[in-house]
Amino acid sequence: MRHTLRTVAAAFFAAAIFSFAAVAQEAPAAASHGIAVENLDRSVPPGDDFYRFANGEWLKRTEIPADRGSVGVFRQLTDKSDKRVSGIIEEVSKSNAPAGSNTRKIADLYNSFMNEEAIEAKGLTPIQPHLKRIAAIKDKRELARALGESLRADVDPLNNTNFHTQNLFGLWVAPGFTDSEHYNAYLLQGGLVLPDRDFYLADSPRMQDIRAKYLSHVAAMLKLAGFSDPDARAKRIVDLERAIAEKHVSLEDSQDAVKANNTWKQADFTAKAPGLDWKEFFAGAGLSKQAQFTVWQPSAFTGEAALVASVPLETWKDWLAFHLLEEYAAVLPKAFADERFALVGKTLSGIPQQRPRWQRGVNVVNNELGDAVGQIYAQRYFPPEAKAEAQKMVANIIEAFGKRIDALDWMQPSTKAEAKAKVATLYVGIGYPEKWRDYSALEIKADDIFGNLWRASLFEYHRNVNRLGKVADKHEWSMTPQTVNAVNLPLQNALNFPAAILEPPFFDAKAPAAANYGAIGSVIGHEISHSFDTLGAAFDSKGRLRNWWTEADLKTFNTAAQRLVEQYNAYKPFADLAINGQLTLAENIADVAGIAAAYDGYRASLGGKEAPVQGGFTGDQQFFIAYAQNWANKPREATLRQQVMTDGHSPGQYRALTVRNIDAWYSAFDVKPGAQLYLSPEERVRIW
Ligand SMILES: [Zn+2]
Repeated sequence: MRHTLRTVAAAFFAAAIFSFAAVAQEAPAAASHGIAVENLDRSVPPGDDFYRFANGEWLKRTEIPADRGSVGVFRQLTDKSDKRVSGIIEEVSKSNAPAGSNTRKIADLYNSFMNEEAIEAKGLTPIQPHLKRIAAIKDKRELARALGESLRADVDPLNNTNFHTQNLFGLWVAPGFTDSEHYNAYLLQGGLVLPDRDFYLADSPRMQDIRAKYLSHVAAMLKLAGFSDPDARAKRIVDLERAIAEKHVSLEDSQDAVKANNTWKQADFTAKAPGLDWKEFFAGAGLSKQAQFTVWQPSAFTGEAALVASVPLETWKDWLAFHLLEEYAAVLPKAFADERFALVGKTLSGIPQQRPRWQRGVNVVNNELGDAVGQIYAQRYFPPEAKAEAQKMVANIIEAFGKRIDALDWMQPSTKAEAKAKVATLYVGIGYPEKWRDYSALEIKADDIFGNLWRASLFEYHRNVNRLGKVADKHEWSMTPQTVNAVNLPLQNALNFPAAILEPPFFDAKAPAAANYGAIGSVIGHEISHSFDTLGAAFDSKGRLRNWWTEADLKTFNTAAQRLVEQYNAYKPFADLAINGQLTLAENIADVAGIAAAYDGYRASLGGKEAPVQGGFTGDQQFFIAYAQNWANKPREATLRQQVMTDGHSPGQYRALTVRNIDAWYSAFDVKPGAQLYLSPEERVRIW
């Protein structure tokens, strides 16, 4: 979440495939080109609530469909992408492609998910061998091996910013903090099913209610799987998770790469985190030969390893079995899938109804064979002209960002030089990757969805483990072309803008420059600015974690950042829950700096001329309205609450208000002191 434009599928949902719903929905933006004037509520003064001014009519007429947690521009585009992917799947299903080909794998994976009759007929048979292996664990040594065998490459703290895994720990393979030329092994805390430690520890009535429902859910899953005494087992499992949560480092602290920079040699683990048989663990994980690791949250490793020693073996075995059922519930018989949806969909996100199966099937294909389907998607839906046009905008905004660095009066020349080098060496990927992932080692069977997902997760794990120590590919993508999002990759000094976000209303060749720069331009500016947010600023032009700042410059930067923390802390979506200005700081910096750079790029693109008026709005007005319309979003209360607690991005309605830090917004809308969003020039936060 930190470096992306938005959080699409949190870790919690990644395996659950309930993450986003897609049904036909009235588009927030109409078929016209440029800003959607019909979405504006002109009765709201722009200086009082710019979000409602830009989106008020849309909010009034939009209903959240029963199978969604929220609705907005991103969902609209995700629907479009899903429908295209579904069309591709349908086509390749009819083509009778040769066994082993990517297209055959796409068809077989999708069909294996869609065949509900076969899933019901098999019952628990596919998962039974794995449950039996857990039941046969005799001692803590065998437990350590089983915990190692469950390790997956399922976390990503810096790029797609996914900090959550149900397994005891998670592995991330990426360029090293100090040697960014080679792949390094990062280990992260894990072990919880609920999204974050606060869900186990916070005292609010809502969290207590979620915990009560979670306890019933654990018991229900065990009962469905035929376990004796499910209530008592569930209580012990939830108690264990609560103990794990107590050892967990908070999300805010986990976001700090400097705190995460802890190198442990393999031999250090026994002394630094006693209680777990680490030799067995690493053997189980296939990592016996890996000499050293970066341990992201050392105190959690010490705490969790101690729990392996102190908590009875039988509780750990139940925990393993339950986590396995939970991880694969979506492809077990309907009773399991429904029980899991009751927790993830209804309880946690407030979504009453599950998405149609075909849409979940598209998600499975996107998750497991994303590049295979993405390659066809890019060919079909991303013409070279769109790529050329997007490249031109990126070049303009990068140039504008460079000029802004030159113009910073507080920054020393040495800091400026490294900042400029970072901008100059940025790799910008547009539309789709240069190289496609090779799926030849992944076996997909037409009638075995459980096995397919099991093998896909191991395939991804081995792909990562096998490249440890090898030369890092700095041009590798971390998103597929059909993803509606964008990302900054700090260890690679790179950006990805997938084809699926380079679409109207973000990007429209027929729209005025003002709308394009306000919409996709601010997205591009946002991702560039992540290179210089509180985390990005800790990495140099080569992607190394290195402090390249003078002390005075860093102090000025941190002071401005702190003011932004306070600005966002003051936003309260609920009486009992405010925005966490620290958790969302990096994203908010990227928003402020991103609009500023996009605005400069826009003015430069006019070449001294004035922009055409559209719908009665000047070019500058269109620019800011287009920006605020990016963030049109209507969430359910439960969904919004979960976002505020766990997401590094502020909710859309507050992201739209970022404009109050930009001088040009005041003149564009004639915003004067007394308006609710008014900040005096000294109060406006300018960082880049
Ligand atoms: Zn971001």
